[in-house]
Amino acid sequence: MADLKKYQQYIGGEWVDPVSGEWFESHNPYTGKPWALFPRGNAADADRAVAAAHKAFTSGDWPAMTATQRGALVRKLGDVYAKYADHMAEIEVADNGKLIAEMAAQNAYVPQWYQYFGGLADKIEGAVIPIDKPATFNYTRHEPLGVIAAITPWNSPMLLTAWKLAPALAAGNTVVLKPSEFTSASAFELVRIIEEAGFPPGVVNVISGYGVEVGEPMVTDDRVAKVAFTGGSMSGQRVYEKAASGLKKVSLELGGKSPNIVFEDAVIDNAVKGAISGIFAASGQTCIAGSRLLVQESIHNEFVDKLVTFAKTAQMGDPMSYDTQVGPVTTPPQFEKILSYLDVAKEDGAECVLGGSKATRPECGDGWFVEPTIYTGVNNQMRIAQEEVFGPVLSIIPFRDEEEAVEIANDVVYGLAAGVWTQDIRKAIEIPNRIQAGTVWVNTYRAVSFLSPFGGYKRSGLGRESGQQAIQEYMQTKSIWISTATEVPNPFVMR
Ligand code: NAD
Repeated sequence: MADLKKYQQYIGGEWVDPVSGEWFESHNPYTGKPWALFPRGNAADADRAVAAAHKAFTSGDWPAMTATQRGALVRKLGDVYAKYADHMAEIEVADNGKLIAEMAAQNAYVPQWYQYFGGLADKIEGAVIPIDKPATFNYTRHEPLGVIAAITPWNSPMLLTAWKLAPALAAGNTVVLKPSEFTSASAFELVRIIEEAGFPPGVVNVISGYGVEVGEPMVTDDRVAKVAFTGGSMSGQRVYEKAASGLKKVSLELGGKSPNIVFEDAVIDNAVKGAISGIFAASGQTCIAGSRLLVQESIHNEFVDKLVTFAKTAQMGDPMSYDTQVGPVTTPPQFEKILSYLDVAKEDGAECVLGGSKATRPECGDGWFVEPTIYTGVNNQMRIAQEEVFGPVLSIIPFRDEEEAVEIANDVVYGLAAGVWTQDIRKAIEIPNRIQAGTVWVNTYRAVSFLSPFGGYKRSGLGRESGQQAIQEYMQTKSIWISTATEVPNPFVMR
């Protein structure tokens, strides 16, 4: 325990111990061993952090800044982040076990969100309304909401933090960030970047701990104006219910069961790679995982053969090695959950054509590894086709024609993303229009950008992150009326 890195919480510009006086261990998913200690925050820490954020929102340097000054500071945050991107990537690999190849690229990309939203800060213009009343001047302003409770999951901690922090700060809000209890280290490391950029104390606060113990008190605090949540659908639903009592604004980025649809006219080798990136990248621990692979009957067998052959070559092992292609699963509960779904698939009668067990290869060491797993003979009503596994487990579902493909694709409670593989321009345009999902990729998969809105249809969430509209999710519109009349007319009549 003596060698473990021990973090503190960051509240009002100061590093502080948790009120509970307790810390808990974070484990490295590859070694299975503890490597850091995170503060076990509770309602008292949430109260302190929200108070600090509220104070910073209502007084001091932050609300006095112009949008241009604020934007410059957010862009500076991006500049400073870029300097430390490699360090942040290494911290994240130690915490969540994802591949260094992916986390390095992701962390190098993170500054773009701060640059983009920093640039947008002073371009959110109100309007002068040509109002239908005499002697009246009416205009609108877009104002920040106040304190934002930002709650993030373990799979892409800094990317998903940037999706919230960048627009929230650019809009003039203050933030209490609560990262996942499994991957809090990068959020604490981010504090140094925020300090170096020069943010006033209290504008960004970071507390850690378990969702119910410290996250929920944030959600129910009357001083919190909005909850920006990314996580599982069950937690998201609970957060939504809790936030409802305070009539708070809420954005939810939740789970998915995304269809990746391969038509017979696709470039098969590309579609195979698309299927692989949809499910085995990040060991399937991505909300946008293409976990249902819909393959047209006429090419089904040929496609499955090629896919299995390709997937067999995937190199498992140390996520810190750039050669590794499939790393461990991030948390022990997640590992157990994935293994339980392998039993479910067997009971449901799916045919396992690859993997189907935990990985015991020597290169997997003591880590929590699951073999890349592929099931055929899946029908869309099976649990393995309807429920989010969040692991390297692919269900292949055959379809006859376009109608059936669309019907199966939409026959699920989620609607986060989808893939379409075809060379037919008509299908490339028509099929995405018919799919109920917030993102549809054609002849590519798993692409995101700060420029393009991201979010869910149906039970995959509420609101959008990234792109211009995301900043409006952190603002509210005020309508201001100024009378230039010399006399107030009949006060008993609505104007
Ligand atoms: P999770 O729901 O268990 O936890 C997410 C965060 O919410 C954590 O910080 C957790 O402590 C907190 N939390 C949990 N219960 C809470 C409560 N009652 N009140 C307040 N906070 C609470 O999710 P996870 O296991 O960390 O992440 C995996 C899930 O996240 C998957 O379902 C995945 O699909 C989803 N996800 C979605 C997106 C997206 O953008 N749509 C991106 C990544 C992950």
